Amino acid sequence: MAYAYDDQNIFAKILRGEVPNDTVLETDHSLAFRDIQPQAPTHVLVIPKGPYVCYDHFAQEASDAELLDYTRAVGEVCRMEGVAEGGFRMIANAGRDGVQEVPHLHVHILAGRNLGRMLQ
Ligand code: IMP
Repeated sequence: MAYAYDDQNIFAKILRGEVPNDTVLETDHSLAFRDIQPQAPTHVLVIPKGPYVCYDHFAQEASDAELLDYTRAVGEVCRMEGVAEGGFRMIANAGRDGVQEVPHLHVHILAGRNLGRMLQ
C-alpha cells in the first residue's frame, strides 16, 4: 500500500517548532516527548523526524540510519525513564482499525502502573 503523509498533523507541527512539546530526547532522526494526555505515570511518545504515517510505511521507506536511530531512541527513552524494572508497554496504533489519531508514526511507551492485560 502507498501511504500519503499529511504534513498538517500535530506531530509534523511539533517537528517544525510550530507547537510546543515536553521533549524527553532528541536525536538526529527521532524525537521523544511526553503525551499531552498521559494514560500512565510515564507516557512518552517516540516519533521519527521523517514523514512516515505508520510503522509499515517507515519500515518500507526509511533509511538504515533512520531505522537504527529510531530503534535506539526507543530503548534510550526506556532507560532514561527507568521503566525496565517495573516493566512497560509499547503501542503503535495504525490506521482506521488501529484507531490512530495522529497520522505520523509514534510509539507510546507506558509505565509506572499495572497496565492490565491487553490481549486475552
Ligand atoms: P494515537 O491514538 O496512537 O494516534 O495517539 C495519539 C496521541 O497523541 C494521544 O495519546 C494524544 O494524547 C497525543 N497527543 C495529541 N496531541 C499532542 C500534543 O500536542 N503533544 C503531545 N501529545 C499529543
